[in-house]
Order: sequence, then C-alpha cells, then structure tokens
Amino acid sequence: MTLQLDARQRAMLAEMGVRLFDAAPVAPAAQAQGQDEAAAQESVSPAAPTAPAAAPRPAPRPAAAPAVSAPLVRPEHVLAPLAGPVAGMQWDALADAVASCQACGLCKSRRNTVFGVGDRQADWLIVGEAPGEMEDLQGEPFVGPAGKLLDNMLRSIGLGRHENVYIANVLKCRPPGNRNPEPAEVAQCEPYLRRQVALLQPKIILAMGRFAVQSILGSTEPIGKLRGRVHQYEGVPVIVTYHPAYLLRNLPDKAKAWADLCLALDLVDPAL
Ligand code: URA
Repeated sequence: MTLQLDARQRAMLAEMGVRLFDAAPVAPAAQAQGQDEAAAQESVSPAAPTAPAAAPRPAPRPAAAPAVSAPLVRPEHVLAPLAGPVAGMQWDALADAVASCQACGLCKSRRNTVFGVGDRQADWLIVGEAPGEMEDLQGEPFVGPAGKLLDNMLRSIGLGRHENVYIANVLKCRPPGNRNPEPAEVAQCEPYLRRQVALLQPKIILAMGRFAVQSILGSTEPIGKLRGRVHQYEGVPVIVTYHPAYLLRNLPDKAKAWADLCLALDLVDPAL
C-alpha cells in the first residue's frame, strides 16, 4: 500500500515533526537501529519541547504481507488467570471495578484512576504505559504533551481519540513521581487491560513503549528489535512502536513511528 496523503495529512505529519522527502524514501526495515536500543530503555518522564525533524517518509511497502512473528509468550510470561469476576465484566462494571481498585499500593497516592477513553467499538486500541500527573488529575489517558503528539499522530492517519480509537494504559493509576511501573503493579493491573481487549475486540493493538510491550507481549526485547513485525495478543495483531514521550525527546525516530502507523493501517484496512 502506498499512502496517499492529502494536504491535511501532510500538515499533521509536519505537526508530528515528520518531513516528507518524496525523492529519498527509506524502507522501514533498512532503518538503522541506532537509538532503538536506547529507546527500549525509554522512560516517559518529562519531555523536551518538540521541533521539526528531518526524517524520510517510509517507502511503500512491498506487496508481500508483513512478517508475523512467532508467539512471544515465554515461560515466565504465563498470564495469571483473570481475577474471578473481572473476566465476565461488561464495560461499566469493569470501569467501576477499576475506579474502586485497591489491588496495589498505587491506590493510596492516585487522585483518579485512568480507565481508558474512546470508542468502545473501535478497530484501534492504543496501549500506553501509565497515567502521568495530568492524566491522574483529569482521569483520562494521554492528556499531557505526549498526548498532544499522540492526537496528532492519530490525526495523521485519519483517526481521533474518539473516532475508531480506544486508548488505555497498562497501569490505571499513576506511579508516584512518574517512576517506572513495578512488575507487581503491572501484574495486578493486567486483568483489566486484558478484559478491555476482550470487550473491544480491536482489529489492531498499537503497543507504545517498553512497558506496554512487556505487558502485552511479555518481551523485554528492545522496541527497535520488535517493531516492523506483526505480533499477537489474545488473537489480536499487535504493532510495537515508540512511546510518544520518547518521541518528543528523540525527534528523528518520529519517522519510524510513522512507518509503524502505516504498517498498522495496512493491517486494519489493506485496501487503503
Ligand atoms: N503516558 C502514558 O503512557 N499514558 C498516559 O496516559 C500518559 C502518558
């Protein structure tokens, strides 16, 4: 598929900091790993201001279907059975369960739980890491600077946070001081995300950043090694990409994120 970009989409890509060079396409697979390894260690702590990055447009994908990775479930990533009632909950009951959750210590410091936002019949599920300060205050995911970039990324492919998209985090409560999620917190929260996936039945999951990847795929491999392929979670295709907060600090990698979006778009709607 070659993405036909109209003026609005081009403007949105410019908003993402991705400049288009029609004359010098670079295939996503051929892009240097470089900072990918560092990206795997990214954190989502405060971001630097954005500026345009000189980045190539991804080359049109070859006709062949994208590679599908072998299942990444490793022995140490055997999912705990869904906590009894969570497995059978419908959306509102699940949201209520999250709102009153006390399964880990984060409930003591949170101001609000952050369940998720968007279209409950969406084809796209975006999975981030955990609420930050703004999200904790407002009870909605991705409302800070990283969220603005995410909104622009979505708009660049004709989506919006309430239009065919649902956004959720691995953790529903903010880790104090935006520290990284603890494995035990991820494990306690995982049934909620898993139930959200089961209820939503999205056509694609976009896993943003290493904690989303660790929770969904059970992999600690660097993002740079996992992106560009189709993974699976509970029967749903998963595309791995960088976290928007990381992209705000690593502008050249926005071009790779754009390639990841194109790959996901291709899976959801190959006719485009
Ligand atoms: N980063 C995330 O991963 N999720 C949010 O909701 C906000 C910032």
